[in-house]
Amino acid sequence: MIVFDLRCTRGDVFEAWFASSAAYEEQRGRGLLRCPICDDDQIEKAVMAPQVAAKGNRAPAPPPPDAAKAMLKALAAAQTEALRNSRWVGATFADEARAMHGGEKPKEVIHGQATVAEAKALLDEGVSVAPLPLPVVPPEATN
Ligand SMILES: [Zn+2]
Repeated sequence: MIVFDLRCTRGDVFEAWFASSAAYEEQRGRGLLRCPICDDDQIEKAVMAPQVAAKGNRAPAPPPPDAAKAMLKALAAAQTEALRNSRWVGATFADEARAMHGGEKPKEVIHGQATVAEAKALLDEGVSVAPLPLPVVPPEATN
């Protein structure tokens, strides 16, 4: 089914459903379309684009800025909590993670900086690393 906004010569606008665009053309060609307000039979489309019933197709509206801010705050709080027992190792992250994975160092939770290539190499070696959702300010930078 397809719905068109139709308009008569007097300017009345109304909606009508059709099985297809072709069905609209056929009914219009045979003079079967009439304005429900003034009974005019000179009917044409009020808009060019047919409104196919598309309620489910619409992209969801972006969340309002306040909701996004609240989400970010919750995410930051969760990350801070997760890192409470984690040791900052800075740029030596890849070396530390590799040493722990190889058993050269006792295992502990660490976080630090790694390039994408380093992180990928670690994953390839079977070392489980995960990017943090938010950037971390290195402790030495806060002093
Ligand atoms: Zn009319």
